[in-house]
Amino acid sequence: YTEDLISPIRTTCPYCGVGCGVLANIDEAGVVSVTGDPEHPANFGKLCSKGSALAQTLGTERRLTQPYYQNKQRTIAKGQPTDTQPVEWEAVLDDIASRLNNTIVTHGRDSVMFYVSGQLLTEDYYVANKFIKGFIGNNNIDSNSRLCMSSAVAGHKRAFGADLVPSNYEDLESCDLLVLVGSNMAWCHPILFGRFLAAKKRDPNKKLIVIDPRRTDSCEFADLHLPIAVGTDTHLYNGLLHYLEQEGCGNKDYLKQCHDVKPALEAAKTWTIDKVATACGISADLVQEFYALVAANDKTVTAFSMGVNQSASGTDKVNAIINTHLYTGRVGRVGASPFSLTGQPNAMGGREVGALANLLAAHLDLDNEQHRHLVADFWQAPQPLAAEVGVKACDAADAILDGRIKAIWIMATNPVVSLPEADKFRRALATCDLVIVSDCSVDSDTVKCADIVLPAQGWGEKSGTVTNSERRISRQRALMPALGQAKPDWWILSQVAKRMGLAGFDYQHARDIFNEHIALTAYRNDTSQDVSENNQPRHLNLAKDLSPMVVGAIASIEESPNHLKQQNKNVFSFSHDAYDVMTPFQWGGARITPSKTKFIAITPPSHASIPNRHTQRLSSKSAHSKKNNGSHTFHQDSSGALDLRLITGRLRDQWHTMTRTGLAPQLNQHESVPTLTVHPNDAKQLGVDQGDYVQLRPCYEKNLSINSQPPRTVASTTTNSQVLAQVAISDSMSAGDAFMPMHWSNAFARFARVGT
Ligand code: SF4
Repeated sequence: YTEDLISPIRTTCPYCGVGCGVLANIDEAGVVSVTGDPEHPANFGKLCSKGSALAQTLGTERRLTQPYYQNKQRTIAKGQPTDTQPVEWEAVLDDIASRLNNTIVTHGRDSVMFYVSGQLLTEDYYVANKFIKGFIGNNNIDSNSRLCMSSAVAGHKRAFGADLVPSNYEDLESCDLLVLVGSNMAWCHPILFGRFLAAKKRDPNKKLIVIDPRRTDSCEFADLHLPIAVGTDTHLYNGLLHYLEQEGCGNKDYLKQCHDVKPALEAAKTWTIDKVATACGISADLVQEFYALVAANDKTVTAFSMGVNQSASGTDKVNAIINTHLYTGRVGRVGASPFSLTGQPNAMGGREVGALANLLAAHLDLDNEQHRHLVADFWQAPQPLAAEVGVKACDAADAILDGRIKAIWIMATNPVVSLPEADKFRRALATCDLVIVSDCSVDSDTVKCADIVLPAQGWGEKSGTVTNSERRISRQRALMPALGQAKPDWWILSQVAKRMGLAGFDYQHARDIFNEHIALTAYRNDTSQDVSENNQPRHLNLAKDLSPMVVGAIASIEESPNHLKQQNKNVFSFSHDAYDVMTPFQWGGARITPSKTKFIAITPPSHASIPNRHTQRLSSKSAHSKKNNGSHTFHQDSSGALDLRLITGRLRDQWHTMTRTGLAPQLNQHESVPTLTVHPNDAKQLGVDQGDYVQLRPCYEKNLSINSQPPRTVASTTTNSQVLAQVAISDSMSAGDAFMPMHWSNAFARFARVGT
């Protein structure tokens, strides 16, 4: 709380990747109210239900306010903090530094891991990445963005040579055809959906197509819905590429600068409309209609989200989509581009500073020795940066259980709920020598698995920058003093680093870190040359240099040039005031058009490996052991339970594991209990009615696997894996598929009316 700001304060919403601008008004009594920022280019004054309720989440309830130790074994067993021992910051920071140093001495540099989050601000992300990659000396840092965005990152790098998003929000308004793939935009990116709908209202000729196994709210506004079988996106898009070739839709000029067109067309050529229809479980007429609409509309935007990214074959899905845009030259043009919609408020900021186990800072390449040397040189790191890809999020449990990771620091994320095989991760934390968790909420289930709990500042208290889905960097600003002893994540990290004897972490303000981040993007990165001053080539790509963008943003503010000084070549520094008044701006400029792009030949999963949703999973017995509990029927777990493919996703009014949105009464009214939505045929098979409760347990079977994941058995799960859900019956689901929101966890059982 260092900024001298006057109400209303301009900040950004901490939820989804739209990154809406928020005006926070604080009255004389200190009561906060929020409205949309009419000047923010993402939302122009509008907020969705979650953003509108932000002020309701600012109370002291359920906040962590003091560092403490706890007996994690007993806490895990009891489900609530047990044998806790408050500790002062000075003492706990010293202790963490000492224990991390001892871990490194005893078990080596690779025995430490950070698990970070798209909820962190870019400045937090930057310090975490620098700390572990530059100074601890390994790449064992991964973000929960691994779960939502890593497929898009890899797909972009394969196609464009860099992780860049060649689209802007305006494209959603200027396109003639918007195709949503694996995205319930109406609920998950509602402000963007509203922008498209407003444009469609002005021009009813605009078309919307939704590709999703279930009929979501987005479909209510769609001209066409393709309810394809789960896992068949690559079949559909290989068929589209083949169709576009057959129809002569290739953009000859654009294709001249593309590589590997032929292998991709060759891989796609067997995917006739009939074959695609069979694979996807939809009619050939529907496939034909979709293909014809894409072929006819030069101004097509394909927006994709978690339904594409969160898959073991997610990268192929991304590239199958991008292939069709490359073929038609619809990339980075007004109203014509593929568009990856990020889930979290700062997934993009994490990518910019390289906070994944296989990325380097500033969009440089981890597998490039010169890039590693450049970053190490800039950081004045004590040793060369490690070349090996670090432990990724989904491998972290195994790395802990087999003894490779002895100390893990988890920041601003709740992986014992959100990771795949979350129970395994919880078991791993129970065995790990040192688990540090920095969070702002008592309700994070992961807090209960920590040896040391650190109170971090939350939205409204912390200050820094975030980057939204269209590469727009905005300030998030503090509105109020931090509660209790809560501290910024960057401060906690740098205090520990300094106590470990590491140089380069003497930051006083988030601005200092932003300056360094910008300076790194500019370091030996003279945009007029391919070779730096000491003859070390810097990989020049479109994402390379933030500094001119920042200069532009600052210069747009009347008094700001006085605050900007160029200290030396390629190093910029912003005064406190200039950082405070920074207006939203896009890195890479307003329009990115990738050149020298590359097609990827896609081989869809074999049809045999995709479950036949209409027959295979209806063969199980119906549930049994009914017990009447008042107005609803309760179905106990049964070995004869029906097998359903579970699709997960967000609700309109909740965010992640509800540690913040769960505090807003109005948001809990949308859906107050976890529901399992099933097709009427499946409800009949189960013998359940609307509103009944069912008990669920994971059932991993080889014949249900659509990818190369190793088969797992029911025996590998624990009784903790069982969850209760209330049945909702809807023909929005295909028979054999079930949908359940991702939000609820044990910590929020209090919101469920189980047994009433
Ligand atoms: Fe905007 Fe997303 Fe926040 Fe809603 S949740 S106000 S769409 S940033």
